[in-house]
Amino acid sequence: MADNEFEGRTALVTGGSRGIGRAICVRLAQSGAKVAINYVSDADAARETRKLVNEAGGEGRIYKADVSELDQATAMHKEIEAEFGPIDLLVTNAGIAKFADDTEMGADVWNEILKVNINGTFHPVWLAKDGMTERGFGRIVCISSIAGLRPNTTRPNRLIAYGTSKAAVIGFVRNCGNAFGPEIRVNGVAPGLIDTDMTKDMSEENRQIVISRTPMRRTGKPEDIAELTHFLLSERASFITGQTYVASGGLVTLP
Ligand code: NAD
Repeated sequence: MADNEFEGRTALVTGGSRGIGRAICVRLAQSGAKVAINYVSDADAARETRKLVNEAGGEGRIYKADVSELDQATAMHKEIEAEFGPIDLLVTNAGIAKFADDTEMGADVWNEILKVNINGTFHPVWLAKDGMTERGFGRIVCISSIAGLRPNTTRPNRLIAYGTSKAAVIGFVRNCGNAFGPEIRVNGVAPGLIDTDMTKDMSEENRQIVISRTPMRRTGKPEDIAELTHFLLSERASFITGQTYVASGGLVTLP
């Protein structure tokens, strides 16, 4: 679905080397964006995303940084702006889930998940927002999860820390949408179960339980999330900010 919607725009996608982040990079490239692909450890996967971005009609560059560390996020931000120009489109997608049983979860797991999923969302947004305001243009999407909207009901329950962190992302989006208008729009996407490395170790039994409760009778693809993200970044969504949208095949619906 090639178009010129993001021609001349610079995008940063955190955690862009694989999964949902990769699909978002490719989708933005199809609309002509220059895409800064952030990764933290897998350089080969990041290079593969860059290849796909270039093939899709965008221009990709890869940037290594742990976005939950302010100094690394800051260095990356400066590098992107110097090499690629100011960031117009930002997608905070980097995130982790640790499938430790909640009853056995310790403070170490809690702290790590909250640090990556919350600070890793906060840092890129905070580094980009002032420049976006000065230039009068910024579009941000933060990737949350349905886990931030309702508790996980499959057993064992393993998502207390993750669900808490993703609820924080929804609150962050709501507050930033309110604070940064009209120059910047900030929205959230809350995916349901999507087939990526993050979910590949889920038991088949639990996967089937989720599918049976899902009106669309399937799990999601990274492209399902990329399409919604693309829409929210685009001017077709010009009256939408502070809002988080669910894409879960109908498993979770908002009131
Ligand atoms: P994934 O594990 O394939 O991708 C996550 C990416 O984030 C990886 O490339 C990882 O290296 C990167 N990352 C992790 N910590 C980082 C850090 N500190 N700095 C920079 N990059 C970091 O999983 P995914 O399913 O593609 O997940 C993408 C996002 O979607 C995550 O925020 C996840 O919580 C969210 N999500 C996923 C699902 C799902 O079912 N897969 C559902 C809801 C929400």
